[in-house]
Amino acid sequence: MPPVNSSNSPGTLAWPASPAPSCPVLRLLAGQTALVTGASSGIGRAIAIALGHAGANVVINYLGSPKKAEEVAKEIQRCGSRAISVAADVSKPDQVQSMFQQTVAEFGRLDILVNNAGIQLDAAFEDLTLDQWQRVIDVNLTGPFLCCQEAVRLFNKQGINPALSCAAGKILCISSVHEVIPWAGHVNYAASKGGLMLLMKSLAQEMAPRRIRVNSIAPGAIRTPINTAAWETREAYDDLLKLIPQKRIGEPEEIGRAAVWLASDQSDYVHGITLFVDGGMTLYPGFETGG
Ligand code: NAD
Repeated sequence: MPPVNSSNSPGTLAWPASPAPSCPVLRLLAGQTALVTGASSGIGRAIAIALGHAGANVVINYLGSPKKAEEVAKEIQRCGSRAISVAADVSKPDQVQSMFQQTVAEFGRLDILVNNAGIQLDAAFEDLTLDQWQRVIDVNLTGPFLCCQEAVRLFNKQGINPALSCAAGKILCISSVHEVIPWAGHVNYAASKGGLMLLMKSLAQEMAPRRIRVNSIAPGAIRTPINTAAWETREAYDDLLKLIPQKRIGEPEEIGRAAVWLASDQSDYVHGITLFVDGGMTLYPGFETGG
């Protein structure tokens, strides 16, 4: 039972929030190969580790220094799966192509793509520069487009391997509650995630007959470097809780477990959906006391 801070309202978790319940990851992905973009930190890191614990070999895509990506690879190797780290900017077609080539060269195939890499460059609307707009769209929307296209080409070529999965391939997009919740001061980010939702759904419709499953996970507030300002002080954290009916921040491992399930045959009939993992953030929390 997580500790409750007496100075908060009943049921509100203390600051800093106690961790979410820890649960074992089931080995649902044995022998499969997964590529996770932006996997050296935060949610991508947790997804890569969870997929590794579930038995998948993992390609850890990163941008910048390789150090943290290599630590993720070591953690995956520790649990008996194989892992490599590959540098690539997901918004650059030649780098994406080379990343998929390295994946096939190392593991011989790909079964799961997780489009996780994402950025925020926030500004009031009238101050938002074209560069800030374009970079967020390039990473958060064009990146998934480029990776999906490479993955689909590969899945088509490979076909179904029933020993591994009843699908020819699985694609997960890490979207956001801001694919449906408007976000003042973050127009570029919300537009990129709204766009990602219809990229995912349109692709899911087109790929269903080929047994390529496409879905999204929409995290709410998860404790990662992208939103440190929202949870690192007591005041910020208390403000954040007003938006979360469960009255706690989410942990990256909770997204990892959802990703394992959504990438596995256990969810084979789940197609073209967004799974919200958000402690109820999308439930109009302003109405929780009756409105
Ligand atoms: P994060 O900053 O730790 O992770 C983002 C990762 O993407 C970083 O490792 C970064 O290096 C990588 N990246 C950035 N640009 C890249 C590029 N061009 N090519 C390759 N990699 C690149 O933050 P996070 O919270 O773990 O974010 C992961 C995803 O989750 C993002 O798509 C984000 O929008 C989404 N998300 C996060 C939250 C949250 O509360 N943390 C909520 C909703 C959605």
